Amino acid sequence: MASELTVDEQAALTSGADLWHTKPVDSAAIPSITLTDGPHGVRLQAEGGDLLTGQAATCFPPAVASASTWDPGLLRRMGEALGDECRALGVAVLLGPGINLKRSPLGGRNFEYFSEDPLLTGVLAAEWVRGLQSRGVGASVKHFAVNSQETDRMRVSADVDERTLREMYLRAFQRVVTQARPWTVMAAYNKINGVYATQHHWLLTQVLRGEWGFDGLVMSDWGAVADRCAAVAAGLDLAMPGPADGDDRELAEAVRDGRLDPALLATAAGRVRALAERAAARQPGGYDAGAHHALAREIAGRAVVLLKNDGGLLPLREQGQSIAVLGEFARTPRYQGGGSSHITPTRLDDALAAITAATSAPVRFAPGYTADGSLDETLIAEAVDLAAGCDVALVFAGSLHETEGSDRDGIDLPAAHQALIEQVAAVNPRTVVVLSNGAVLRTTPWDGRVPALVEGWLLGQAGGSAIADVLFGRVNPSGRLAETIPLRLADHPSYLDFPGEHGHVRYGEGLHVGYRGFDAREQEVAYPFGFGLSYTTFGYGQATAAVTSAGIEVRIPVSNTGDRDGREVVQVYVSVPGSRVRRPPRELKAFASVEIAAGQTADVLLTIARDDLAYWDTRLGRWAVEGGEYRCAVGASSRDLRSTAVAVVAGDDIRVPLTGDSSVGEWLADPRGGELLGQAFAVMANGDKGFAAQHFLNPELLSFIASLPLARMAAFPGSPLTQETLDKLVAAANA
Ligand code: BGC
Repeated sequence: MASELTVDEQAALTSGADLWHTKPVDSAAIPSITLTDGPHGVRLQAEGGDLLTGQAATCFPPAVASASTWDPGLLRRMGEALGDECRALGVAVLLGPGINLKRSPLGGRNFEYFSEDPLLTGVLAAEWVRGLQSRGVGASVKHFAVNSQETDRMRVSADVDERTLREMYLRAFQRVVTQARPWTVMAAYNKINGVYATQHHWLLTQVLRGEWGFDGLVMSDWGAVADRCAAVAAGLDLAMPGPADGDDRELAEAVRDGRLDPALLATAAGRVRALAERAAARQPGGYDAGAHHALAREIAGRAVVLLKNDGGLLPLREQGQSIAVLGEFARTPRYQGGGSSHITPTRLDDALAAITAATSAPVRFAPGYTADGSLDETLIAEAVDLAAGCDVALVFAGSLHETEGSDRDGIDLPAAHQALIEQVAAVNPRTVVVLSNGAVLRTTPWDGRVPALVEGWLLGQAGGSAIADVLFGRVNPSGRLAETIPLRLADHPSYLDFPGEHGHVRYGEGLHVGYRGFDAREQEVAYPFGFGLSYTTFGYGQATAAVTSAGIEVRIPVSNTGDRDGREVVQVYVSVPGSRVRRPPRELKAFASVEIAAGQTADVLLTIARDDLAYWDTRLGRWAVEGGEYRCAVGASSRDLRSTAVAVVAGDDIRVPLTGDSSVGEWLADPRGGELLGQAFAVMANGDKGFAAQHFLNPELLSFIASLPLARMAAFPGSPLTQETLDKLVAAANA
C-alpha cells in the first residue's frame, strides 16, 4: 500500500525539483521523473548547456509540416519514434503535442501547431499521442487552452464565447483527451475570459475531468502559476518548474489554516505520485538514428504541398537539365522554429547537396540574399546571371524566423526574397519557387510570375532531402494545406481582433476561424484549406451517404486518372442548410489518406462520428445534434468539392423548456407551447376581445410582438394574462 505523505511532502511534490524534473520522496519510494520538450523532437537539456541546447535527437518536421501530411498513420509512427528516443534518453514525459488552433497567420507559434481546423488537429494529435504512449512515455497535451498568440502571452485574456470555445478551441483537446487518453495536460499561460488557465476551475475540473473523464495529471506551463493555492483549488496538480520552496510552504500553511481543502492537495500530490509510478514502469531502450532520419524524411516528403505546377514543369528530369539553385536557404536550411521546441538535430540535410546528388546534370548555386535576409543587388545580379544560363531555376525563399515568445509582424516575404524571385523569373520562364516558412506567407502577386510553387514549410532535419525527393518526382507530392493562404492579411477573419490590447484579445470572429470565415464571407483566397496538387490527377465518382447509429458513412469511388501512383487526401465538408443555429457554410468532418496506383480506383469510406455533427447549444448547456439534412460534400479541398450526398439525420431532443421569459415567438414555434397558447388565448378571446386576441390573430401584429417575453404581456393594458394563467401554461408546456 502507498505510504501516507505529510502535508509538507504533498506540497513539495506538487512543484518541480528544477527545470525538468519532479521531486522524489525517498521515504515513500516516489522517484523523480524527467519532463522535456517537445513536440517534434526530444530536447533534453545537455549537462551544463543553456536552456535551448539539447542533446542530439532527431528533429522531425514541426507540426506545421506534419499536419500538412493529413496522414494519421504517419503521425502515429512519429509518436512511436519519439517515444523510443525518450526511452533512450531517460525521458518520462514529452511536452507535446501543441494543439492550439491557428487563429491568425501572425501567431508566433503557428509552426508548433497543427491547423486552423479542430478536427484535423484532433485526429492527427490523437495518433501522435497514441504512438508516443505506446512506448510507455507520457504526452503533455498543450497549451490548455485558447493559447493562440504570443503577444502578452503570460497575461492576456482570450475573451471567447462559450459556443466558440467548445466547438473550436476546446474541441481538439476533447478529442485527444477522450480518445487517446494522454498522461498529462499542460495548462496555458494566458487567461480565458479573465481567469488564468492554471486557476480555471471550470476548465481544469468541470470540463476536463468532469465532462471528459480525464484521469491524468495537469501541469502548468513553465512559470504559468500566479497563485499556487488558487491553482491547486482549481485542479492543477504540478506547478513547473521548481524549486518553489516558499510557495510549497505557503501551500502547506494554507491547508493547515483552513484556506485550502486538504483533500485537494492530497489529490494533486497523489496524481504526481501516480505519474511518477506509471513512468517508472517504462523499459529503457535505444533507437536507430539512421532509421529515424529516414522516417523524418518520409514525413517531410509527404508534408510538402505543391501549390502550382503550370505546364507540368515539375518533376525535374534527373538528367540533361542544368539547374540553378538560388537562395541561401538551399544551403543553410530553415527547418524548425525558435523557442522551447528547438532541437539539436542528429544530422542536417540541405537541399543544395540533395539536389546535386540527385542529378547528373550541372547544378550551380548562388546565395541570392544574405543570411539575415538583407537585399544585396550584387547577390541578386549574380543569381540572375546563373538563372539565365540554366535550363531550370530553383529559388529558395521564405520567412526569416518564427519563434515562441513573439508574434509575427506580417506575412510578406522579405523584400530581398521577393526581388530575387521576380528578377529570376524575368530571365528564366522555368522558375520554381520553394518556400520555407513556419506559418503562411502571402504569395500574391509574385506567384503569378512563376510557373511552379512548392510550399516546403519547416521540414525538420531531413527536409533538404525531402525537397529533392519531391522536385525529382521520387516522391509524388501529396501534402495539403492545413491552413488557408489568404490573398492579403487584411482578409483574414481574425484581422481586426488580433492580438488585442490592454490585456484582452476578443475572439470576435467567433466560430468563423480560418476557412470557415473566408467561406462565410465568400472571399477569394490564394490557396484554400485542404488544397495541394500531385504529379498525377484524381477523378471522383458519385458520393453516397448512409446514416448509422454511429453517425454518417460516406462512400465515394476515387480514381487515379494519371500515369503515376499517388496519394489523394479525400475530404468531407458538411453543411446543414436548414440549421436553426448559425453555422459556418461548411466544416471538415472526415478525411482519408488513400494511396491509389495509376489507373486504379479506390472505394473510399469516410466515417463521420455522430458526436462530430453536434453543435454546442448555449441554451441547454450541452452538445446537440440537430435533426434534418446534412449535406456531405466530398472533394480534394475545401473549395474543390466534387460530389455531394445528403444524409437525413434524426436529431437529439433539443427542446428548450418554456418559461415566462420565453418570447411569444418561441412559444408559438414550439409545437406543444403553440397549441397551449392558442387554446388559452382562444378562451380568453371569447370573454375579452382586447389586446391579446387581436394581436394573435393578426399575422402582421404577431410578427411585431413575437419577441415579447410572454410574461411581459401582463403589463399591457387590456392583456388577459395573469400570473396564474402563466404558471399554468408553463407547467403544462413542460409537463
Ligand atoms: C512553453 C512550453 C514548453 C515549456 C517548457 C514554455 O515556455 O510555452 O511549450 O513546454 O516552456 O520548455
